[in-house]
Amino acid sequence: MDPAGRVDWLRDLIRGHDRAYYELDAPVIPDADYDLLVRELRALERDHPDLVTPDSPTQRVSGAASTQFAPVQHRTRMMSLDNAMDGDELRAWGDRTQRRLEELGLDGAVRYVCELKIDGLAMSLRYEGGRLVLAATRGDGRTGEDVTANVRRIEAVPRELTDAAPDVLEVRGEIYLPLEAFARLRSQTEEDNVRALEAGRRPKPLPANPRNAGAGSLRQKDPEVTGSRGLALWAYQLGEVVGTDAPPTHTGALELLARSGLPVNPETRACASLEEVYEFCEHWVVHRHELPYEIDGVVVKVDDLSVQEALGATSKAPRWAIAYKLPPEERTTRLLDIQVSIGRTGKATPFAVMEPVFVGGSTVSMATLHNEDQVRLKDVRPGDTVVVRKAGDVIPEVVGPVVDLRPDGLPEWRFPTECPSCGGPLVRPEGEAQHLCPSPTCPQKRWAAVCHFASRGAMDIEGLGEQQVQLFMDLGLIDDVADVYSLDYERIGELRGYGERAIDNLRAAVDASRSRPLARLLFGLNITHLGQAGAETLAGALGSLDAIASASLEDLSAVDGVGPVIAESVHSWFTDEGNRRVVERLVAAGVNTLGPERSVLPQTLVGASVVVSGTLVGYSREEAEAAIKARGGKSPGSVSKRTTALVVGADPGASKVTKAEELGIPVLDQVGFEQLLETGEVPR
Ligand code: NAD
Repeated sequence: MDPAGRVDWLRDLIRGHDRAYYELDAPVIPDADYDLLVRELRALERDHPDLVTPDSPTQRVSGAASTQFAPVQHRTRMMSLDNAMDGDELRAWGDRTQRRLEELGLDGAVRYVCELKIDGLAMSLRYEGGRLVLAATRGDGRTGEDVTANVRRIEAVPRELTDAAPDVLEVRGEIYLPLEAFARLRSQTEEDNVRALEAGRRPKPLPANPRNAGAGSLRQKDPEVTGSRGLALWAYQLGEVVGTDAPPTHTGALELLARSGLPVNPETRACASLEEVYEFCEHWVVHRHELPYEIDGVVVKVDDLSVQEALGATSKAPRWAIAYKLPPEERTTRLLDIQVSIGRTGKATPFAVMEPVFVGGSTVSMATLHNEDQVRLKDVRPGDTVVVRKAGDVIPEVVGPVVDLRPDGLPEWRFPTECPSCGGPLVRPEGEAQHLCPSPTCPQKRWAAVCHFASRGAMDIEGLGEQQVQLFMDLGLIDDVADVYSLDYERIGELRGYGERAIDNLRAAVDASRSRPLARLLFGLNITHLGQAGAETLAGALGSLDAIASASLEDLSAVDGVGPVIAESVHSWFTDEGNRRVVERLVAAGVNTLGPERSVLPQTLVGASVVVSGTLVGYSREEAEAAIKARGGKSPGSVSKRTTALVVGADPGASKVTKAEELGIPVLDQVGFEQLLETGEVPR
């Protein structure tokens, strides 16, 4: 396309996006994608100055006042900001500023003020006699919308100022939606959507980000709705002032605003050099997510207001300020496919396969879609252009499709009915969000299970990573986790890359894993719902693999910190014949099966069941029970015919003693108890 044609095309496209963003509060593409279009247009106009027209989006403040609200003429224009994408562009702006000042005969070091660039909606507020009389949006910079009725409902915007406020005070600031309020609005919409789907109605689009949700919340027909959303304000600029001398610096202006009772952001810094400015910017690149609201940059302003005036403005933006943009956290890309992965417990999870895109500091090509309902709610389809979000270290997320760019006739995605690995049926248990592959022979499930067993959080076997597990499985050397301990090293030695050293290392790593703590072994067994913490709790409370495997559902549920879901899952796992065989082979292979304390105590009470009643000297009831369990025994709360002995201290429960006597169960005192602990023999 020739430059003139490309320029026209870009302008049309940008104007369309401006309408969606400023007038409908519903942008079609992320800001970073939009910024790239504007940058391309600006570069073309720079190379072909004859193509520049006054109505180009690069030459005027974008946006327009809608007809939904009455128009307001701004007394001083509300402008846009030029932006810098990196340190070089920031320094180039600094150099331009210095040069211009020298040309104007204004020498001397420039002082700057850095502020956070709040991602919200620019607002002009006019106070007369300390009372809010007008609130207006930016519109096209000259004409905005009168949103006074709505803004009066926002609690965070003072309706009256303090006595320090001048007679007339016009202030510019940003109305924004704090993250907490945004999350509330989003989960409310999600809940409404679940109900809508159940009733066969179409779900509403989820609010995409705080900026647009905030702008939408402000520009409501019903001011009550605006008032209910939790919007907030940061004031950052002085407009018209009557009744007092305007301060000479921007810092002074911010102080006046704060004294007048307006909220001024505390993260503001005066800087004596551009290096200091750059440090401030870089600080917020790293720390932006510690704020309870979103920012998309840092605004750098020249502090001296007379210098600001001398520098003036272009048709679009002041020359005395620049927005240092933070790296984008949202981009669009193509959704190539939705695939399903099978996890170590058989969980079937859909995930997005995308054209790689650089976002949030790394290249992203895959993202989980969690489950069938999430895909339905988002309505993403292979072939869609999708918005991907990655905020800092957070896992990338597919926000949703760009519906306007959806090719005609693109079919909805359906959850597969067959496991992509073993071809068996995928089932979705009643009342659960997750599909499962129940087949015990599913190759992907087995592979994931062995990988997990060998992983760092579980048995930590170095040299047995995902690729090696796959290789050994392909060769038939491993089928389940117990096979790890009967590897055919001779056979492995024949493989490329497995010299003597590698074999020795692998053998040593496998041997070392035998002595991992019980909790790691438990975690490595791939029991549904049992995470690291649950495994530790169980190992600590029951003390041995044998005790856990033979515990009743009640025993497991009685463990502090183990809920009914985990208890049920652990119980049914150990009831399964196949799993029991795996455990037997692991035990035979010599893995450590004892809990933290027990591994150092002689296991004198394995198989014994000792009931404690009354107070013993030197032991609380819990400690006495723990001492039994630490030696491999059980300590249930009541006497039965399976009880080995009843230990009685002072004030024992009479019913227990009677029952023991009836059943002929030995009753031991403190001395007998200590003998039992030591020898495992019931003293006569
Ligand atoms: P801008 O947002 O880059 O900068 C100007 C605005 O910054 C001001 O109007 C003000 O609202 C805000 N601001 C926040 N904190 C400030 C502070 N401390 N001091 C001064 N101003 C502060 O410029 P713009 O012209 O309003 O908008 C352009 C930007 O809007 C684009 O870069 C893009 O990010 C976004 N946009 C996106 C789309 C889209 O389709 N996604 C469309 C149009 C615009």
